[in-house]
Amino acid sequence: MDSKTNKIEELIALMAKLPGLGPRSARRAVLRMIKKREIIMKPLGDMIQEVSSLAQECLVCGNISNDETCSICTSDVRVTGEICVVEDVADLWAMERSNVFKGRYHVLGGNLSALDGVGPEELRIPHLVNRVKGEEVNEVILALNATVDGQTTAHYIADQLDDMDVAVTSLAQGVPIGGELDYLDDGTISAALNARKSV
Ligand SMILES: [Zn+2]
Repeated sequence: MDSKTNKIEELIALMAKLPGLGPRSARRAVLRMIKKREIIMKPLGDMIQEVSSLAQECLVCGNISNDETCSICTSDVRVTGEICVVEDVADLWAMERSNVFKGRYHVLGGNLSALDGVGPEELRIPHLVNRVKGEEVNEVILALNATVDGQTTAHYIADQLDDMDVAVTSLAQGVPIGGELDYLDDGTISAALNARKSV
């Protein structure tokens, strides 16, 4: 095997690390890129390099953006009194895909987990409490996964916000037990948001 063949195999092995791409899909993707070198592979390479130097966490909400503050936080058409709390950026993007939530977000960066040693300080929970104190927030919607850790986190946050003048709600039926937002279809997310209940 010559060195050029090795490089292609290395690219396939790297691509295969991506979610949703096993070795077989990675191989097909790489082959397609090489065949479409000018219109896919080169622009993709440039774009990956550009995004890799620009992508950062929004200082306000934790979304991934190419600016210090993301376009949702700086938007003047979003409702400012509602903050939807999600575990991960993938969940935020899933909520945005469903196109029903018009407020702003707060990404925790994980769930509380005694098992994995994740406490409130490891997440952006103190930051959330400060936002609720500092911004005019009427409602905090907990859109956390219907897993044990997700629900533990939801209860902890509800406790933290208990003595503040803010309604705390959570997504209602529609999120299956053990369900993760990113895997739900848009209609299910939308139904769960519209039927949210007080915590
Ligand atoms: Zn933001």
